[in-house]
Amino acid sequence: MKTRTKVVVIGGGIAGCSTLYHLTQEGWSDVVLVERNELTSGTTWHSAAQVTNFGMNQTMVGLKTHSINLYKELAEDPEYPINYHHGDGGIRLANTEAQMQGYRHFASMARGMDVHFEVLDAEECARRHPLISTDNMIGGLWDPLDGDIDPAQLCQALARRARNAGAEVYRNTPVTALTQHKDDTWTVHTEHGDIDCDIVVNAGGYRVNEVGAMMDVHHPVASMEHQYFLTEDIPAIKDAGHRMPLIRCPISDYYCRQEKNGLLVGFYEQDCKTWGMDGIDPNFVNALCPDDLERVMDVLEGAFARMPALADVGIHTVVNGPITYTIDGAPLVGPIPGKRNAFCIIGLRAGLGEGGGHGWLLAQQIVHGEAQYDTWCIDPRRFGVHTNFELTALKAIEDYQNEFRFHFPHEHRPAGRNARTTPLTPVMAAESAEFTVVNGWERVDYIKPTPEFHPTLGFGFDEAFDVVAAEVKNVQENVGLCEVNGFNRFEITGADRHRFLDRMFCGAVTKRDGRVGLGYLLNHHGMVKGEATVANITASDRGPERVWYGSAAASELHDMDWLQTQLRADEDVKIRSLTNDQTILVLAGPKARDVLSVCARGDWSKQAFPWLSARECYIGYAPATVLGVSFSGELAYEIHVPNASLYAAYLALREAGGAYGMELFGARAVDAMRMEKGFLHWKADLLTEFDPFETGLDRFVKLDKGDFVGKAALIQRQEEGPRKKLVTFKIDATHAPAYGGGSLMQGDEVVGTVTSGDWGHRTGLNLGYAFVEPDMATEDNVMQLDHLGDLVDATVIASSPYDPNYSRMRS
Ligand SMILES: Cc1cc2nc3c(=O)[nH]c(=O)nc-3n(C[C@H](O)[C@H](O)[C@H](O)COP(=O)(O)OP(=O)(O)OC[C@H]3O[C@@H](n4cnc5c(N)ncnc54)[C@H](O)[C@@H]3O)c2cc1C
Repeated sequence: MKTRTKVVVIGGGIAGCSTLYHLTQEGWSDVVLVERNELTSGTTWHSAAQVTNFGMNQTMVGLKTHSINLYKELAEDPEYPINYHHGDGGIRLANTEAQMQGYRHFASMARGMDVHFEVLDAEECARRHPLISTDNMIGGLWDPLDGDIDPAQLCQALARRARNAGAEVYRNTPVTALTQHKDDTWTVHTEHGDIDCDIVVNAGGYRVNEVGAMMDVHHPVASMEHQYFLTEDIPAIKDAGHRMPLIRCPISDYYCRQEKNGLLVGFYEQDCKTWGMDGIDPNFVNALCPDDLERVMDVLEGAFARMPALADVGIHTVVNGPITYTIDGAPLVGPIPGKRNAFCIIGLRAGLGEGGGHGWLLAQQIVHGEAQYDTWCIDPRRFGVHTNFELTALKAIEDYQNEFRFHFPHEHRPAGRNARTTPLTPVMAAESAEFTVVNGWERVDYIKPTPEFHPTLGFGFDEAFDVVAAEVKNVQENVGLCEVNGFNRFEITGADRHRFLDRMFCGAVTKRDGRVGLGYLLNHHGMVKGEATVANITASDRGPERVWYGSAAASELHDMDWLQTQLRADEDVKIRSLTNDQTILVLAGPKARDVLSVCARGDWSKQAFPWLSARECYIGYAPATVLGVSFSGELAYEIHVPNASLYAAYLALREAGGAYGMELFGARAVDAMRMEKGFLHWKADLLTEFDPFETGLDRFVKLDKGDFVGKAALIQRQEEGPRKKLVTFKIDATHAPAYGGGSLMQGDEVVGTVTSGDWGHRTGLNLGYAFVEPDMATEDNVMQLDHLGDLVDATVIASSPYDPNYSRMRS
């Protein structure tokens, strides 16, 4: 066994084997995999091993395409062929029009990744799968490349290729402890000796938190028991003359694929069960949980009704094994929050299908610092600090129960609600607020007209449309108040703070006391990594001169990691998170200044406190810091208040606002208004796949300043010219917004991908942003959006159709 290597991957299931193989593909051959037992002895060996191309976003579709291509290549390797049923096809069924609309959107989204799903009616589904009944079903989504693979052979093939490229695999070698050294390298302690390495990877499957505990980390991953059975031969399958397509059924929560001449049928029962919550038997190796078909009886009845042939056939094997779920259902593949040189590839609930792609994207992150797709949807840092063991289990149960039922727009499911609240949450609830969930925080979406108001879930504009329109109107004409909780806020102090930030941002960052600026952070490839406001707060009895760094709620762990890793040892900079201590009250509208002047001492005139100013004050007697910034395009103030004083500040603002027609507004109104201003959302429109010039952020880049992170790469990219350009467009449709991922077409060719869409209530336009081919980016150019099954005209317009001169927010 080696005593020193570059990377140690812990775990020899599909996650570990794929990572090891792809590290060698990315050029690192001095890498090892350490497995406590035999390869695939965790969950992988008993997997149903279906390999679908279906995903909820383009990153997931892209990584699954990589799996499929890789598995096909492995299957066809004459030296070590493996069993892969490639291209049997698969159908996701639907019994509601809303589900069908979702499938139409997913088909549009996948088209941009050169993946061609088909939306079928019920008769066509039955024609392609002769065993299903069309009762209570209106259609489905066809994935032509669906199939299944032999999981053990797949892992052996990956390990074999990795070994051939120089990697080593140590079986029957449990990792017992991990030690990190001052220089951020690691020692991996195993039962057979120590291995020093630069980087460790947790690929521990359901033992993820045993490995996590070795580095004092708890990952938001919980295991569920999951069952399938195998039937005896079914004559109709034998006689069909072709392999049966796979079925995934959100109506009855089961899946099914052909296994020899019978079927493999798996269940997602409501009466489901977590596993291993109180610790895992160390001898649970190559093992299964006891069968419990009683638990799945409800689902079984639905499966029998959909596939009557099942009722007449014997069951010869039942498999019940642990499967991992995360707090939002998607895996955790990337850097471990708060740790250096530590990565994970965990929480895989469809690891056989996805594992090839996840290992690929992880290896790229390890070797190059970033993957070719934006990996935020699988980034382990996408949650806040609230994701504890109990909350994870609750969300895992809910997710398991809804395995094939995708989230609709604006849908927030009930488990684990109120995980993060402020003193205003009950106050807003009493005001009839409908809440959305942002990184665990309960944030006001809009104020319901009646307590019983529940819009229909679907892809069209819902019944809240007029409610949001009224909130926008009041902000435009009078003044509105909105609580923005969970907004990420770091306090940066120390003599070198400005120098440090100058290096982190690609543009000019204001250093002036009492001033605020907006800036963009790049990665080393010159791509957009982050967006933040920087406010210079004057020294006072509340603290020394300091910078407040503000960014999206979900960026809390990501931005802290990024800033900390870029900090040099000799720099006098301290970064402290205030995210969980402070909440923002946004006061927006032409009468915002009047309201502020009533409840806060001092001169708030345009001359004394112009746009982009920052000042400490009291709202009534609540200490607050006010920033003159706007996301709505109206005159607005962000009022930052310590949570202990939040209610007092709120009462003072409400009282002052009474005379000015002040009403509450929520996140939906904010989102609609920002679309009319060309303001971008981090990780919807701001992605690591594009540089700031492609993203239309030219005015925030200053190439003639000193060095900054990503500068050299950005200059190189600029010379090569843009591959895409972000544009604002309007669509000729009034029934539904454009959705992120949707494909923009010119004839049969995909020429762009939507990142955001919403109705602009002040302009009366159905707006969207999209990255398009550069020659499509000129104003007035007309493309077609593949919009929920229809082609509608999408016309490029100016980026800020409402108040293009920004005169209202500067007033
Ligand atoms: C019944 C069932 C059906 C499924 N069907 C499908 C399907 O159809 N399609 C699909 O894509 N997915 C399916 N899955 C899910 C899929 O099988 C898993 O996502 C996948 O196998 C997880 O792989 P892994 O490598 O993350 O974990 P594992 O396979 O569990 O591998 C983790 C490895 O880490 C090792 N390890 C742990 N601790 C240590 C340590 N301290 N030292 C060294 N090694 C350690 C373990 O021994 C183990 O070998 C199914 C799962 C179940 C249970």
